[in-house]
Amino acid sequence: MNGNLKIKALPAEFYDRFLSDRAKKLQPSPIRGLYPLEKKPGVISLLAGKPEPSTFPFTSLTFTAKDPLKENSESTITISQDQLSPGLQYSDTAGIPDLLKWITTLQEIAHGRKHGMHASGEGEEGWRLSIGSGSQDLISKSATTLINPGDSVLVESPVYAGIIPIFKHMDCKQIEVPTDAHGIRASSLKEILENWPEGEKKPKLLYTVPYGCNPTGMTASLERRKEVLKLARQYNFIILEDDPYYYLYYGKSARPTSYFALEVTEPCGEEAGEPYCEVGRVLRFDSLSKILSAGLRIGFATGPEAILRKVDMLTANANLQVSSLTQLIAFRLLDSWGYDKFFAHTKNVSAFYAQKRDIFERELKKWLGGGVPEEGESDEGRLADWVSPEAGMFFWFKLLVDTPNNSSSQDSDEQDSRTLIETHAYANGVLALPGTVFLPNGSKTPYVRASFSLLTEDQVVEAMKRLRKTVLEVRSE
Ligand code: PMP
Repeated sequence: MNGNLKIKALPAEFYDRFLSDRAKKLQPSPIRGLYPLEKKPGVISLLAGKPEPSTFPFTSLTFTAKDPLKENSESTITISQDQLSPGLQYSDTAGIPDLLKWITTLQEIAHGRKHGMHASGEGEEGWRLSIGSGSQDLISKSATTLINPGDSVLVESPVYAGIIPIFKHMDCKQIEVPTDAHGIRASSLKEILENWPEGEKKPKLLYTVPYGCNPTGMTASLERRKEVLKLARQYNFIILEDDPYYYLYYGKSARPTSYFALEVTEPCGEEAGEPYCEVGRVLRFDSLSKILSAGLRIGFATGPEAILRKVDMLTANANLQVSSLTQLIAFRLLDSWGYDKFFAHTKNVSAFYAQKRDIFERELKKWLGGGVPEEGESDEGRLADWVSPEAGMFFWFKLLVDTPNNSSSQDSDEQDSRTLIETHAYANGVLALPGTVFLPNGSKTPYVRASFSLLTEDQVVEAMKRLRKTVLEVRSE
């Protein structure tokens, strides 16, 4: 794909060090493993215990969907009886073939990485797809595939709260890598790796949410990403790129490249005078939850065959596959749109959240940013600190309950927002999430996560007034 650079996919043996003992013991399902053989023309299959779809009561499915290019315009999509039967039947563990094909091309377009299957099942550039019941399903199964009890994992901090119990359940050590306004701090990661305790097992992986991070709203800069990938290659770990907010990027500058895409543009050395890129170190998670519907429960993992075949085996054990019907509905919608309309739709969605962000920030500034005081109020200065998000649906902010002159105050970084939010703010009729739930090792933090995705403008104004009232009350206590 990349004109000048030679691409070298990491060999299957490379993953031996990374697969958990549990994953190594997993075997393909004896029935599902033979499914591909059924597809050979002329073969009469007596294989699977599949019910006959014509005995099911569903005969067709019709739904309407917005046209992303025309405001207030809808089209009707009808799935006929023939088209519906794959949606009513068991299908391949990794996903229904039509949807896998559509998403494969999407990944090629979005991340510039060509996919072509070799007979070995490995992609030309070392990748394939697996569909899961939301990306959460795939992240959890990937953790089972990669982690042994006692392993160390690098986790950006603050981190998506939904990953913490997964890693706890795996009994691994979570090593926190701090983040700031530019995303994960590559220099801190470097320091952690350089000073790794002797005798301690080296970390196998790094978990990061690179766009519109949940909870901080931050997007990692391109520079940081390049440095992190370089460190992953140098210190030999895998990057779990959890990216459900990729299509919700609304920053002013160009969208930074994904880790998955960087693998084929960032050379890691030269061979016979030619620069080359090594690929297969990034396992990427996407989700349809924020762009088509969270209720569809469809996410997809993109990465090396050696890992995803084990993830599929876990799926075969746990739930056989993701609902064929929701996959079919997603496919029929996407297929009727085509890629141009899909990208137009994601652009509309990100513009929607950009507008929500603007309203939230405008009111945050007005009520808590040291703006003009209300009539009868004294100027209390700034009541909150935050960094404006460039993607996603979250603000991460600190309520400044201690005035600079308040000598009794502790260092505000040592304060915890839990009581402030759960007691004081809640008593005033506003609820947010105390930041501590996003810290893998449960430390305290004065930060709070506010989600702005569902709020009307009036609700934002009212929420900010209530937060202002809360801070002023606590300050005067
Ligand atoms: N990762 C992150 C960072 C998330 O914020 C979420 C959803 N809140 C998920 C994964 C799970 O998303 P899905 O609906 O695809 O399972």
